[in-house]
Amino acid sequence: MSLPVVSSQTADEAYEDPLDLIEEIDRLKIEKDATILAHFYVDGDIQDIADFTGDSLKLARDAVNVTTSTILFSGVHFMAESAKILNPEKKVLIPDLLAGCSLAESCPADKLAEFQQRLRGEGRDVVTVAYINTSAAVKSLCDWIVTSGNAREIIDRVPADREILFVPDQHLGRYLEEVSGRKMILWPGACMVHEIFSLQDMLRAKRNTPGSMVIAHPECPHNILEHADFIGGTEKLRRHVMSFEEPQTFLVATDAAMIHAFEKSAPQHTFVPVPGIMTDSGETCACNRCPHMARNTLAKVRDCLKNGEPEIHWQPYFDKAQDVLQRSLLD
Ligand code: SF4
Repeated sequence: MSLPVVSSQTADEAYEDPLDLIEEIDRLKIEKDATILAHFYVDGDIQDIADFTGDSLKLARDAVNVTTSTILFSGVHFMAESAKILNPEKKVLIPDLLAGCSLAESCPADKLAEFQQRLRGEGRDVVTVAYINTSAAVKSLCDWIVTSGNAREIIDRVPADREILFVPDQHLGRYLEEVSGRKMILWPGACMVHEIFSLQDMLRAKRNTPGSMVIAHPECPHNILEHADFIGGTEKLRRHVMSFEEPQTFLVATDAAMIHAFEKSAPQHTFVPVPGIMTDSGETCACNRCPHMARNTLAKVRDCLKNGEPEIHWQPYFDKAQDVLQRSLLD
């Protein structure tokens, strides 16, 4: 598999001084009555100008407390969709409409509906639990939505005599099976970023840095998770590193942009990204970055505020997705 080129400034963007862009964004935020939400996986300079930063769960909850008429969501499409669904009366903007998610795309709504129909045909009355990294169309077909932060709690709420279909992340699903003791039907999806960590290089880095600890996101495959010293969603990882007062070295098996948030929260530590596997072209990805998150740049944030687009518009299936999102994340 060859990796896409990732950069904070895309090739077709002319160079602009980041300080000028930040000044313009601050001015536009007031002029357009906008609040900026930024995921931990976008570039650090965008996180620094955001009003709220966090993981999917925290940002979904922050979105409902926004008081301005406009939300600019710097992240990927399904996150901006969730912000719109939870705030139908607000204008929700996303800096780049093409910022998708390989994991969400691995579970198309029509395929899920077909599979659910087949299970019903077999007389199996399953409860469908979806990771938040899914399109709104998929959410509208599900009973519960979870994030890596609340998945265990929601799984525990499903009555023990009901079968669970977990979509779309097979690795997170397998991890949840282990921690909850519940067997589930797992959709075979995966995230392109978390799938690519090199176990061999991670073990070598650990050996070469005595005392270091591996912290990993549960979207990583089992072979990485079984060597991790701590597993958690991004917010849980951030709190974990903050709990150590003495300087430590952490080997980070999640999107390397997360290191910006770690360094801000726990500057006493050293954070080293776990290297990725060798690509088809023979290169090693030393710094795993989500190419979709990397579509967010300061220039696009500025343009999006200025032009009032791209905007997330209400779709008919948002009504059903709204019920399940509110019940799962806000109640
Ligand atoms: S890191 Fe993976 S799961 Fe997260 S947005 Fe990127 S492709 Fe999707």
